[in-house]
Amino acid sequence: MPEIVELLTETFGHDCVLTHEEASMRVASNWRQNENLDCLALLRPGTTEDVSKMLQICNAYNQPVVPHGGLTNVVGGVVTKPNEIALSLERMNAVEEINVLNKTVTVQAGVVLQTLQKMVAEKGFLFPLDLGAKGSCMIGGNIASNAGGLQALRYGVMRNLVLGMEVVLADGTIISSMNKMLKNNAGYDLKQLFIGSEGTLGIITKAILKIEDKPESKHTAFIAVDCFEKANQLLQFSKKYLKNNLTSFELLWQDYYSLMTSPPSIYAPPLPQNYPFYILMEMLGQDAEKDQALFEELLEKSFEDGLIADAVIARSQQELNWLWGIRENVEFIFSVHHPVFLFDVSLAIADMNEYIEKIKSALQKVWADVLFYAFGHMGDGNLHLYVSCGNADINIRHHVEEIVYKPLQQIGGSITGEHGIGLEKKRWLHLSRTAEEIQLMKTLKNALDPKGILNPGKLL
Ligand SMILES: Cc1cc2nc3c(=O)[nH]c(=O)nc-3n(C[C@H](O)[C@H](O)[C@H](O)COP(=O)(O)OP(=O)(O)OC[C@H]3O[C@@H](n4cnc5c(N)ncnc54)[C@H](O)[C@@H]3O)c2cc1C
Repeated sequence: MPEIVELLTETFGHDCVLTHEEASMRVASNWRQNENLDCLALLRPGTTEDVSKMLQICNAYNQPVVPHGGLTNVVGGVVTKPNEIALSLERMNAVEEINVLNKTVTVQAGVVLQTLQKMVAEKGFLFPLDLGAKGSCMIGGNIASNAGGLQALRYGVMRNLVLGMEVVLADGTIISSMNKMLKNNAGYDLKQLFIGSEGTLGIITKAILKIEDKPESKHTAFIAVDCFEKANQLLQFSKKYLKNNLTSFELLWQDYYSLMTSPPSIYAPPLPQNYPFYILMEMLGQDAEKDQALFEELLEKSFEDGLIADAVIARSQQELNWLWGIRENVEFIFSVHHPVFLFDVSLAIADMNEYIEKIKSALQKVWADVLFYAFGHMGDGNLHLYVSCGNADINIRHHVEEIVYKPLQQIGGSITGEHGIGLEKKRWLHLSRTAEEIQLMKTLKNALDPKGILNPGKLL
């Protein structure tokens, strides 16, 4: 056994330190679980002090450490090499406080998102971060990746939900920044440094998060529109009409909708498949009676004004699951096509359709029978693209990436709206950040982790 693993086992006990062999019984990732972990050891701290001491030892040994949350990252952010130690926050999974007066929760980093949502709901509140991976992803991972998700249009991304944080630096220093206030201008807002830092600057151990009043009503419609401009007009009109209650506005291009609503998919089409665009729109409100009337009025007016071509409203939980399933069950794509490259670009809403048309035709020029699916969080300016050109070769992948990413630079878009950089997008970071920005990121990394032990090779 390597000396450092012996020392860690001696110091923390066998429960906290899994050997290479024990760790290799686990999957390397919860996203497409086709490989097992291959690491030097897996650490499972129970407290912040454990994390601190573990990092002190690893830092002294120049030992690379990869933080693990729920392992749902899709850009190689949790890839752990045989010489690296994985540090999982899974045992630090307590919800320490739900403060209904302050409308905050204090949670340890290993709390699973869905568990937190349920606990907060039982107290009559809402924790509004919501994403497809909620059953596995953890709050620490959500913070480290600045997760967005399905309700960001209304409640913002993780960055907007974190009030305070505790983080352990590479040398074991504990930075307690457990602020509960909305306003605190006493110097730099240090927590922001770690939000979205993908485990490269420190290990997040705790956080204080904002919670919202639990909505009293939910209204959801699946809508067909004749053109992109009408989708955008409907978005603007809905924002104005529903005020702050518009929660999700998800756009699906026809190809994606047809794929998801044709056999062997389990979903029947709620609307005919011949429209160019579909929208999944949802409002959450506080007035059950008035909200329904408002939502239906909005749809009627939009129909009369020619914005909407066709629409269905979900009338039961079963229908709700059906409509959301069409949008969310992206795993289905992988079951019918292989290999598939996944993208999550961010750009101005007005540029979306032209951008999609441009890259679709550029891809078709190279691979005439390329499969291309576009959909995503239109309301947040964030789209997911799935591309399959029948070949998984790394050079092919880079060629596809070049076609998808390069046009974003000209229109001021970003190569990632939610998933982050990880390993996969590192070579394209310069398209979304200036050389000076990247240099400053490196300066910060060197200052906080001079030996470069935290998640080496990721992001920068
Ligand atoms: C089906 C599916 C749907 C998804 N939908 C969305 C979506 O709508 N929006 C969205 O934003 N993302 C989405 N994702 C991506 C992913 O779920 C998010 O990025 C999520 O926030 C990752 O959380 P995790 O706990 O799984 O983190 P992990 O995958 O374990 O880690 C993510 C990154 O954070 C680091 N990290 C983890 N924990 C810590 C910690 N405590 N301290 C420091 N660094 C840490 C890791 O090293 C890694 O770099 C989706 C993924 C899947 C599989």
